Amino acid sequence: MSQFDDILRKVHAYRPDDDLALLQNAYSFCIERHKGQERLSGEPYISHPLHVANILADLRLDPVCLAAGMLHDVVEDTPTSIEALQAEFGDEVARIVEGVTKIGRIHFQSPEEQQAENFRKMLLAMVDDVRVVLVKLADRLHNMRTLEYLPPEKRQRIAHETLEIYAPIAHRLGMGKLRGELEDLSFQHLEPDAYAEVKRAVERRRKVNEEFLAEVQRLVQAKMKQHAIPARVEGRIKRLYSIWQKLKRQHIAIEQVYDLLAIRIITDDVKNCYAALGVIHNTWRPVPGRIKDFIAIPRPNLYQSLHTSVIGPHGQPFEVQIRTAEMHRVAEEGIAAHWKYKDGSGATIQDAERFAWLRHLVEWQKEMRDPGDFLSTLKVDLYPQEVYTFTPKGKVIVLPREASPIDFAYAIHTEIGNHCVGAKVNGRIVPLKSRLRNGDIVEITTQANQTPSRDWLAHVKTSRARNKIKHWINIAQRRQAVEIGKRLLEKEARKYGVVLKKIADEDYQRVAREYGCSLADDLYAGVGFGKFVARQVLAKLVPTLAHEAGQPSRLTRTVKRVLGMTPDVAIQVHGYGDLLVYRARCCNPIRGEEIVGYITRGKGISVHSKNCKNVQNLLYDAERRIAVEWTGPKYTFYPVRLNLLTTDRQGMLAEVTAAISSDHSNIQNIEARTGDEQASIEVTVDILDKEHLDKIMASLRKIEGVYHVERMVKA
Ligand code: MN
Repeated sequence: MSQFDDILRKVHAYRPDDDLALLQNAYSFCIERHKGQERLSGEPYISHPLHVANILADLRLDPVCLAAGMLHDVVEDTPTSIEALQAEFGDEVARIVEGVTKIGRIHFQSPEEQQAENFRKMLLAMVDDVRVVLVKLADRLHNMRTLEYLPPEKRQRIAHETLEIYAPIAHRLGMGKLRGELEDLSFQHLEPDAYAEVKRAVERRRKVNEEFLAEVQRLVQAKMKQHAIPARVEGRIKRLYSIWQKLKRQHIAIEQVYDLLAIRIITDDVKNCYAALGVIHNTWRPVPGRIKDFIAIPRPNLYQSLHTSVIGPHGQPFEVQIRTAEMHRVAEEGIAAHWKYKDGSGATIQDAERFAWLRHLVEWQKEMRDPGDFLSTLKVDLYPQEVYTFTPKGKVIVLPREASPIDFAYAIHTEIGNHCVGAKVNGRIVPLKSRLRNGDIVEITTQANQTPSRDWLAHVKTSRARNKIKHWINIAQRRQAVEIGKRLLEKEARKYGVVLKKIADEDYQRVAREYGCSLADDLYAGVGFGKFVARQVLAKLVPTLAHEAGQPSRLTRTVKRVLGMTPDVAIQVHGYGDLLVYRARCCNPIRGEEIVGYITRGKGISVHSKNCKNVQNLLYDAERRIAVEWTGPKYTFYPVRLNLLTTDRQGMLAEVTAAISSDHSNIQNIEARTGDEQASIEVTVDILDKEHLDKIMASLRKIEGVYHVERMVKA
């Protein structure tokens, strides 16, 4: 029987009602496209896609998946476009082949465990249809079965990739059988000596072990019959790679592997699983601590079974696995067992089974101590939260969804981030603020004179990039403050005929220490930020000036107080909790308003409302701008002047004062002028925050005869 007939026969057996024309067409197309091509084994190329489809048929997958399996190499290895496949075989087949082609182009190289994990997630994140992974796994399985025809280095690379990436993916998808075979094949090529040794050890006992298993199988079968438990009993010797892992991990000899030999009891329902366990424990003594109930608590990959180890005839320990037929199918086929499509239209997210399966996952996830990332992997697949991108050298960079090339640049290195000017994604130039997608290969271009810009903050998704950009901005501001501070000191020094250069370094150090600074630069920065007053610093540097310049005169102190120049504890500068901050008198901002700060010359930071005319008219140097925010005690009152235009009637003033005090504010001052049957009332009230102010203004507007209320600010 030809390979293709074999496939048709299998599909017909499990899907008797399906029209297999799609498979026929795919087969002819495949033969035509791969004509003349050979595999390294010397076989015609077509044997590979047919084997792949056959593996998929063993998993009882739908004809669309099998057709995609047959066609999986035509885009990569023959001059066939995705569009051509789409025209010929429809969207689904084309999409699956496209996905397989895409992940086939990615090669895993890094030996790091974390990179392997990222790589696995990325592969799963890149596919929007699990059948892409199933075809890829079938493809890989056949390639592994024929690996010996490849040159040694290529063999090593593929075996390594299989062991690190594909076998774990098969495991996560619950495909125990496929995983086992992938592992053993990889083991054989990666560690030929160890493989040979384990194999010899198993072979040496194979006859004895097989006879033992046959004997136990007979005994178990008889016991089950005696207790009226319907059962199929199978025996198996543990897989070579699993044995080797155990020997390595536990430093034991092969005789001490409790589950080297196992029998499997497959029964009809859960009740009988537990009944069978009871029978087994009545027959042979269980090994303490080896009973595992994966029926009550399934493994993350949905595996369900009861496990126990018992001491069998002749003192030989063996493992017993008990499960229902359905659990068995899931254990062997995993996600493929759940992934049944009734017809083309069933291949949607509405697929009831898929939902039931996902729901179970979510429920189980809650109970699992070590969810092993399985669910999050699937979440990445179905509801992407992360993007998996590459450096040109193939390192995987995991970023949050919607991350930009700026995030990517900072993920690689702070310096790359600080100097990035542009990005190429998959070879094409893109803006720095564009969004990255799964599988993008990103190349960052840098320029030494480029520096981070504040608006990058709007385009980054990682806290790393955000922090680095903010850090840079802070440093840049400090550098600026140092310059400003130096200039202010020089200006002050000129006034007193002092030459700063003549002052000794020790004096700078001493004064810096007096101000609690460790470096002279910190001192300059303090002056630049307005934390320290230039004249006072100068007086400390040149003690002879102290008398004239050191202390502010009584008059200045009074003026300062009158002008309200007391630091405002309710506002802070981002990252500089101890700077002197003043509310600008022009706009007199109150809590809750959007505010901006400006470094003033020698007087600290003045804080303006964002809407302040002076800010809007760019009266202030943009370079001196600094971020400020409201902090500190919430119950600071600010005087705010309001102007009201009202009709001139009796009792108006009384109503205005009543309205204000019922909104819990004090009136500091109130004046009224009348004329032309109109009155103008100017009132200064204590205001807590913007909300408070809005409330008072609204109350005032409600008073009959009040037709205009406005907050007064200086021009
Ligand atoms: Mn292939």
